[in-house]
Amino acid sequence: MAGEAQSDCLFCKIVAGEVPATIVRESETTVAFRDINPQAPTHVLVIPKAHYPDAASLAAGAPEIAADVLREAGQVAADEKVDGSGYRVVLNTGSGAGQTVWHAHAHVLGGRGLNWPPG
Ligand code: AMP
Ligand code: ZN
Repeated sequence: MAGEAQSDCLFCKIVAGEVPATIVRESETTVAFRDINPQAPTHVLVIPKAHYPDAASLAAGAPEIAADVLREAGQVAADEKVDGSGYRVVLNTGSGAGQTVWHAHAHVLGGRGLNWPPG
C-alpha cells in the first residue's frame, strides 16, 4: 500500500535506523541527513518517513507530507546558514534525470555558486 515501508529500500532502512546516516533534522513525518557523496558544502537529503517512489507520487498520495518535506528543506537551509546566499532544492525524478533511489527525496544544495540552468 502507498506509504508503507519497503524492505528493499535504502531510505526506508535509514528511517528505521537499520542503515546509519548523519541525521541533521527529524520531524514527525520527515528525516534530513547528509548526502554520502556531497556535491556542495551543504548537501542534505530531506525524505518523508513514508515510502513513495518519487516526489510526484508523494504529492499525489500525501500532499501534507510533501509540504512537510519542503518546509524542512527550508529549515535545513536556515540551520546550515545558506538561506542568505541562496540554495537549491532538487527533486530528481526518473533515471534520465539522475534519480537512483526510488524513495522520494529533496536535495538541499548550498554553500557554493549554483549555475543556472542546472546540468
Ligand atoms: P538521486 O540520485 O537524486 O536519486 O539521489 C540519491 C542520493 O542519495 C545521491 O546523491 C547519493 O549520494 C545519496 N545516497 C546514496 N546512499 C546514501 C546513504 N547511505 N546515505 C546518504 N546518502 C546516500
Ligand atoms: Zn523507502
